[in-house]
Amino acid sequence: MNKELRPRLLTGDTSTGRLHLGHWVGSIENRVRMQDHYDCYFVIANIQAMTTRMDRPAEVHQNVMEVMLDYLAVGIDPKRSTIFVQSEVPAIAELTVFFSLLVPYPRLMRNPTIKDEIRDKGLGDNYSVGFLLYPISQAADILSFRPQIVPVGEDQVPHLELTREVARRFNQIYCHVDPHAEDSQHLAQGGVFPIVETKLGRTKRLVGIGAPGPDGSLLKMSKSLNNAIFLSDDPDTIKKKVMAMYTDPNRLKATDKGTVENNPLWIFHETFNPDKKWVQEAEERYRAGTIGDVECKRQLIDVLVSTIEPIRQRRIQFEKDIHYVQSLLKEGTAKANETANTTLILAKEAMRQRYF
Ligand code: ATP
Ligand code: MG
Repeated sequence: MNKELRPRLLTGDTSTGRLHLGHWVGSIENRVRMQDHYDCYFVIANIQAMTTRMDRPAEVHQNVMEVMLDYLAVGIDPKRSTIFVQSEVPAIAELTVFFSLLVPYPRLMRNPTIKDEIRDKGLGDNYSVGFLLYPISQAADILSFRPQIVPVGEDQVPHLELTREVARRFNQIYCHVDPHAEDSQHLAQGGVFPIVETKLGRTKRLVGIGAPGPDGSLLKMSKSLNNAIFLSDDPDTIKKKVMAMYTDPNRLKATDKGTVENNPLWIFHETFNPDKKWVQEAEERYRAGTIGDVECKRQLIDVLVSTIEPIRQRRIQFEKDIHYVQSLLKEGTAKANETANTTLILAKEAMRQRYF
């Protein structure tokens, strides 16, 4: 099908570090697969990265390139998909300002992902106005491209709900869409913005390799929490990380009965090991105390190395020609500007704020 006629898809990542296994099962696997069926846009969200790193601009800059390299390494193809840098598409910032007028302040503070991030990233009460604004900025990242579908991990669900609320409110106030209209009817009734669908990955929230948080639950794997296995980790690093990973803290020797539930070792096997029969049998033996942690970890290392190593090898090839990689990002950003500017004009016309 002609690329322009395909339904549109948008998603992205913050430039806070390299991509990890959580990104892979949460969103990237889906994206790579969907490239042939959707007109895909992928945003590298550098302004969002700066909401928690405003004092580390060089690091954010470097991480834009790291994410771009990871995208190319996992098989996102710039010939088929548009990859762009958030801050180089000014229409997004303009729409953020207009959208911020549609969201009541207390609504932002009720967002559970914001609460989790403030707690898990230790932001205390030092977060900026811009940090609180980021879900609205994310609504603008998405709606600037008027996509049908947004593949994300579970932590993004509240943000996508806000995105839908913004789109509904905009369409109702400025485009006279009936307040009782079904979501699927908004465009047909003259709305500028689609009410986007969420597409979750096969693992909605992959845990990290570290110990649980203060409330006893395992933290999600995150670039910012030092608990990630990266898609660019070499076999030796993977081995060290798996050997040191958190498992059942009450199991001190191989003959102790172990707990499989809530144990990252088994969560990782269940997620990544294609040999389901081995996993099932090994879990039984772990429960019974007839298999050692080390044997299970060795198996996991093999599985993860065979998942990650081809990605890492492709990344090494792209790293050799960083100017070419930069040119791909520049081309994608130019294309993204065309699309987002078209949306901005439609939005300004609907709001009767287009003067010249
Ligand atoms: P940060 O710690 O800076 O917030 P992050 O690791 O959470 O980084 P993001 O760039 O915020 O990564 O997320 C990009 C995408 O990957 C989102 O769709 C998010 O839901 C998904 N994602 C991130 N971590 C996980 C995870 N552990 N499991 C499943 N999906 C994830
Ligand atoms: Mg995040």
